[in-house]
Amino acid sequence: MNDIGVRDALPAGFVAAARTIAGAAGVIDDPAGMAPFAEDRRKRYPGRAALVLRPASTAEVSGLVALCAGAGVAIVPQGGNTGLVGGSTPDESGREAVLSLARMNRVIAVDPIDNTIAVEAGVILAEAQDAALAADRLFPLSLAAEGSCTIGGNLSTNAGGTQVLRYGNARDLVLGLEVVLADGRVLDLMRALRKDNTGYDLKQVFLGSEGTLGIITRAVLKLVPRPRETVTAWIGLDGPTAAVALLADLQGATGGQVTTFEYIPRSCLEQLLRLIEGHRDPLREPWPAYALLEATSGRSQGLRGTVEAALGEAMEKGLVRDATIAESEAQAGALWRIREELPEGEKRAGAAVKHDVSVPVSRIPDFFEGAEGAVARAFPGARVSAFGHIGDGNIHFNVLPPHAPDTDRFLARWDEVNRVVEDVAIGLGGSFSAEHGIGRMRQASFERYKKPLEIELMRRLKTAFDPHGILNPGRVVARP
Ligand code: FAD
Ligand code: ZN
Repeated sequence: MNDIGVRDALPAGFVAAARTIAGAAGVIDDPAGMAPFAEDRRKRYPGRAALVLRPASTAEVSGLVALCAGAGVAIVPQGGNTGLVGGSTPDESGREAVLSLARMNRVIAVDPIDNTIAVEAGVILAEAQDAALAADRLFPLSLAAEGSCTIGGNLSTNAGGTQVLRYGNARDLVLGLEVVLADGRVLDLMRALRKDNTGYDLKQVFLGSEGTLGIITRAVLKLVPRPRETVTAWIGLDGPTAAVALLADLQGATGGQVTTFEYIPRSCLEQLLRLIEGHRDPLREPWPAYALLEATSGRSQGLRGTVEAALGEAMEKGLVRDATIAESEAQAGALWRIREELPEGEKRAGAAVKHDVSVPVSRIPDFFEGAEGAVARAFPGARVSAFGHIGDGNIHFNVLPPHAPDTDRFLARWDEVNRVVEDVAIGLGGSFSAEHGIGRMRQASFERYKKPLEIELMRRLKTAFDPHGILNPGRVVARP
């Protein structure tokens, strides 16, 4: 590691100028205080910050970004630091400043007539959900990191999660946005309009841009009616072909009221039962795979009967082997915990090469067959742990080494494994990064699979919005 101290990495007077803008609470420059901001979630990218900036208002963000721009100091925006692709932490150089939005954590307003919630970027996702519920509305973005990820991070990564099937990705939930540009100017797009065709939709440029084009400081988000009836079921299946056919049937039977349809192979459930206490197999007999189904309705009753009847018909057709419907919130919670703790179970089983691929839902069975076959041929004995948002065509297809002692040697082949799995997804018209983004981790895949013209246009956008390359450099598009 290159040993540059804060004072060497930053121009003289920089720290004092930052304190003048954001106050003592807005600047951290001691190494121990900065360390947590430099550690990525998966500990794949050791990093060191030149400085940590913690502004409390848009005006402070604006002042700090202008200061960085003037001094040529690169900025790594950070929300909850739950991102999984190495986009929210600084590199090893010790020259990048982290700009944390965590202190901008105010829910500004909830409007039940407009069906909107306006928030600052550092609001924790679960707090936005709670504020919506308090007004008898639902903010439908939901993911396992919701207790610590922030709205700014969710919008910057265009987060997906477990309700995309019904409500879309984060991008689909945004009406208005406020962004601090690379030169410090504030772009105010905080509109609450459902219709507004007045030229290019500039807010879209920033959604999913992973902090490389601007810093999101506030947003107006869409709310939907709060569900009155929720049906949660755990369904035993033969495999992905049955799962995809069942989803289509359930959507038809419920009139599109399926909010969640998650796929869990038996091997993942067994791993969880073995490694994490407090879980039990929801069904009496083992089945090759499972779906976690959630359907919701704005009416207070009727949905459960519809789901039961649909599952009964699917059983007669041989699509469903067995199923249980939660009788209480506690039972539903236990089923959800299985899904939410799968990543933890996998982590305890040992390190794995991760994938976040998607294909059209109809190609899911082909993907499983193709990817499992390709992995078995290229890496004999490697184990596959593949689960996820099958209703969105999005699978977290993770590959574990044949035996624990091989872990380091296997992980050294990370890129090779990625290529084998991602080639299959791309061959089926899919994507190599469905919901986690590019960051630093998916750079090689980005170069390999994106069309040259797409990359050229993205580079031009980057140059237009950040001509001096100070916003999250080296993430998403490498500098032109
Ligand atoms: P960070 O990790 O802090 O940042 C993410 C990226 O956004 C970085 O590039 C950062 O520079 C940028 N950024 C952050 N805030 C801003 C801002 N205000 N302005 C501009 N750029 C900004 N993701 C999913 O999509 N679906 C899932 O189901 C899902 N499940 C997860 C489960 C677990 C247990 C964990 C740990 C993560 C999961 N994730 C999931 C990934 C992660 O939670 C999401 O990417 C989330 O949206 C990141 O939010 P954050 O506030 O933590 O952002
Ligand atoms: Zn996911």
